[in-house]
Amino acid sequence: MDWNIQSRSHVCQSCGHRFTDRQTYFTLLLLRRTDLERLDVCPACWEAQHAQGAHDRKGFVSFWQGTYNAPPPAPPDPIQKDSAESLLRKLIERQDPRYLAVGFILAVMLERKRILKVHSQSFEAGQRLFVYEHARTGETFTIRDPDLHINELEAVQRDVARLLEHGLDPAPFEIPAASDGPPRAAQPDPAAPPKPAPEPAPANPDQPAES
Ligand SMILES: [Zn+2]
Repeated sequence: MDWNIQSRSHVCQSCGHRFTDRQTYFTLLLLRRTDLERLDVCPACWEAQHAQGAHDRKGFVSFWQGTYNAPPPAPPDPIQKDSAESLLRKLIERQDPRYLAVGFILAVMLERKRILKVHSQSFEAGQRLFVYEHARTGETFTIRDPDLHINELEAVQRDVARLLEHGLDPAPFEIPAASDGPPRAAQPDPAAPPKPAPEPAPANPDQPAES
């Protein structure tokens, strides 16, 4: 699991009640095998079912309290303004590990613009995961720290600038090798088996029954 977007539910995922504008809700993020599961629940369900022992649940990554904002009408933002955001979404959709460093830099840029805010950092299999929340939509963006070396930063920033200017090629995009060696972001994740193609996830066979 290198990166991931989870949308915010519009209903409590325990009792099914619709969230109302400006109400408080709780989010629990769990790692199920290689997939993140996000649970958004109302305060009553949080207290009754999830608050006790949340940290001890298998695969616990993070939890937080948020304020639900009813979806606004279609944003009038010009495309240019959120090109860093739309590029990051496309990169995450591709799940190509070669884009990981570029995606990480984009997330940092979006954090500076206050479009994303950091919720937490956690460690999974020795790798740092950043959990961001989209300030407007409440979506969760989870991105693995590519552990960039300072020498690699300049090349990645050039790639980011080029992608923002020219967009993402339909063909796979090759990150040029840095002068001092191959880009680390292009190496396969040693902790995970190679993933030649995305497969539909199994229907959570190891998910314990919610009670
Ligand atoms: Zn509820």
